[in-house]
Amino acid sequence: DIEIPESHPRYQSLLTRHRIEAGVEKGITSQQGLIAQGRGEAFDYLLGEETIPSADDAARVAAAHLLLADHPVISVNGNVAALCPEEIVELADAVDADIEVNLFNRTEARMQAIVDHLREHGADEVKGLTADGRIPNIDHKRAKIDADGIGSADVVVVPLEDGDRAEALGAMGKTEIVVDLNPMSRSARAATVPIVDNIMRAVPNITAHANALKDASREELEAIVAEFDAEDALEAAERAIRSSDDT
Ligand code: ATP
Ligand code: MG
Repeated sequence: DIEIPESHPRYQSLLTRHRIEAGVEKGITSQQGLIAQGRGEAFDYLLGEETIPSADDAARVAAAHLLLADHPVISVNGNVAALCPEEIVELADAVDADIEVNLFNRTEARMQAIVDHLREHGADEVKGLTADGRIPNIDHKRAKIDADGIGSADVVVVPLEDGDRAEALGAMGKTEIVVDLNPMSRSARAATVPIVDNIMRAVPNITAHANALKDASREELEAIVAEFDAEDALEAAERAIRSSDDT
């Protein structure tokens, strides 16, 4: 591991870069993933590298959806696996969700490497290798899902999902929780619940909200879900970005 002094003003950002680099070396993150990371970093910089109130609110709504779900599934790609594998396993445990590896640039080697990596970080079962289901209206290479995973999920968490697939998953009738730092991204716009935040902050935050809501009644959870307005959340994130010069 490299040494980054915690006192460095860009500590979190440097740590994130290092994890993505290590992910590429380990064969779990694609070269494309480096570019996605760069785009995310730019938005995080503009957001002040902190969880804005509207993103915290969305994370609580996401937790309520996950607790209400019959079959929640958390989708993991190469960036997510590199950045927060333990936090994904903790979220899955907190809301009793399945974990499924789901890659935009799918190769069997990378699928297997990510499954192994998640197991090393405490996951029991990891789905995605069966690939006996399809997302309708997506070209076949990018459409592969597990029929008993994302295929039969009612609520899906798709951090950093590609816009096309996010729209197609929404069209399948799934409740979609998207984590994406770009509020203008098609993925964020396709979401039932867009969380405009870094996955390294958002995933543990959803878990914390889920733990806090563990004893809430269905009525309380449904009220939290009903009050949420995705459009308002996206607008609040855009405002935070535009006013970043005075934060
Ligand atoms: P569209 O959704 O409009 O089709 P895209 O999917 O083509 O856009 P990509 O560059 O492929 O855009 O996707 C990467 C997305 O992931 C970007 O929107 C970026 O902000 C976001 N992102 C990257 N790293 C992180 C991170 N650590 N946490 C949250 N979001 C991130
Ligand atoms: Mg996108």
